[in-house]
Amino acid sequence: MADDSAYRPETLAVRAGQERSQFGEHSEALYLTSSFVFPNAAAAARRFSGEEEGNVYARFTNPTVTMFEERLAALEGAEDCVATASGMSAIMALCLAHLKQGDHIVASNSLFGATVQLFSNILARTGIATTFVSQTDPVAWEAAIRPETKLFFLETPSNPLTEIADIPALTAIARARGILVAVDNCFCTPILQRPLELGADLVVHSATKYLDGQGRVLGGAVCGPKKLTEEVFKYLRTAGPTLSAFNAWVLLKGMETLKIRIEAQSANAARLAAWLESHPKVARVFYPGLPSHPQYELACRQQKRGGAIVSFELKGARKEAWTVVDHCRLLSITANLGDTKTTITHPASTTHGRITPEARAAAGIDESLLRIAVGLEAVEDLQADLERGLALI
Ligand SMILES: *Cc1c(COP(=O)(O)O)cnc(C)c1O
Repeated sequence: MADDSAYRPETLAVRAGQERSQFGEHSEALYLTSSFVFPNAAAAARRFSGEEEGNVYARFTNPTVTMFEERLAALEGAEDCVATASGMSAIMALCLAHLKQGDHIVASNSLFGATVQLFSNILARTGIATTFVSQTDPVAWEAAIRPETKLFFLETPSNPLTEIADIPALTAIARARGILVAVDNCFCTPILQRPLELGADLVVHSATKYLDGQGRVLGGAVCGPKKLTEEVFKYLRTAGPTLSAFNAWVLLKGMETLKIRIEAQSANAARLAAWLESHPKVARVFYPGLPSHPQYELACRQQKRGGAIVSFELKGARKEAWTVVDHCRLLSITANLGDTKTTITHPASTTHGRITPEARAAAGIDESLLRIAVGLEAVEDLQADLERGLALI
């Protein structure tokens, strides 16, 4: 496409990044090849040195992966994107490309569980320290800054309590001190929220979730200006957690329906959240699209819709929560999210099951809390499925 920036997101999701081969295939081609051949020795030397653009080896680049990267970059409004094997390898690559021993991260205390483990165990062992602060309190982020702070890392809305981080407020604090801001945009996708436009330096994705959208493959990405993504590319090229061509091809096909999926799933989530809020067995609903959400106005400014994750507390505890889960016939009992199939999770005994009860309470994870990642089924069918268990408590 000549000038991607002139097209709207739904057009970019279908068209951006496609590079046709000599055969003129209509659908994006899947290049299952680990290496590439050169016409002669001099060309090989030029490709290796970087003097000539082109593919060398699939740990560096692959044409199917490049199409995925260009499509996601166009959607995020980023100059560049580098794809990774998973969301976690995107976060790992971002950190190891831009941080070194002695550096410090300030991060939200409500990040995805594996991200918390990555920061507090793996990066800590390499001499990169992290201070975790409240997602919703910019003053705490500012107070946690040290002379060696190099990165703010946040994820908004958070999982499972849908707390919103004020991206413009946090980036203003960081920018004044030369600190990079990275946003995990997995939950909103660029259709609902574009962190780079709000001031962030880098966006990371678990493509495994809404970009695929149908629960098939793992993938990840880091998007941003080339001067920052280039370092991530150099790390990946050497360390190796790059995206496979097959997964990139699945993700390209998934992204074609991203806009209609995330909009329809958000609309379903909004209806389900309103229904839950009026339900006599439900104590509290967490959904950024509800006016009762404590950060509703910030969510409206920053996101186009509330997203597809709804959490709620019951009038009860673990027993009541498990009753609802165990009477679901339609909702899948799984911790995954971002699928067209609706999923239900009891965070206190699964995603947050390994932390102490005190730490769980401090994180606001009640024993009665359930998280639903809303899919594309009819809302009435989801309600009937939940009502079966709710009626018993
Ligand atoms: C799933 C997830 C990740 C990790 O992604 P993988 O593809 O599973 O490695 C990171 N951040 C968020 C918000 C996620 O939901």
